[in-house]
Amino acid sequence: MTFQLPSLPFAPDALEPVISARTIEFHYGKHHQTYVTKLNSLVPGTAFENSTLEEIILKAEGGIFNNAAQVWNHTFYWEGFSAQRGTVPSGKLLEMINRDFGSLEAFKTRFQESAINQFGSGWAWLVINAEDKLAIVTTGNAANPMRDQLKPILTCDVWEHAYYLDFQNRRPDYVTAFWQIVDWDLIAKRLG
Ligand code: MN
Repeated sequence: MTFQLPSLPFAPDALEPVISARTIEFHYGKHHQTYVTKLNSLVPGTAFENSTLEEIILKAEGGIFNNAAQVWNHTFYWEGFSAQRGTVPSGKLLEMINRDFGSLEAFKTRFQESAINQFGSGWAWLVINAEDKLAIVTTGNAANPMRDQLKPILTCDVWEHAYYLDFQNRRPDYVTAFWQIVDWDLIAKRLG
């Protein structure tokens, strides 16, 4: 199976000023593309030749895992954004947020703290756990919560390459601005 860089569901400048067209050019055009290219160079001749990305993430280790997970994580990250600003959680998703975090603001604060406190490169995630509750987890480097039987519905990339061109070292500013571009309608669809 040959993996492809998926096209973005918005124009390169649609997320400005939170994520600039220049960050898209590098983060999507170079970093994300490189994970796809590397994965395609590593898989031939291995047990994963006919595997889906998800199957590789659940079973692989080392370079194949890292590149497969980074392809999936980035696609999931981009697809969570929309050029249309101002969407808000509603319905079942809002009920779950209120039930599991107390309020939307309390959830956002806890998610931001988790994203800011993830040491080094990694990801902050909103997931659904085995008890069908929402939870916040962070992972280092390429790691993906699906390996821990958690279903991701939202992610924030906290590798420096995600924010350095726009915010330099100010990860807290990036994580706080992140909410402006989240497509809550899409996140709600991920509840299934
Ligand atoms: Mn990234």
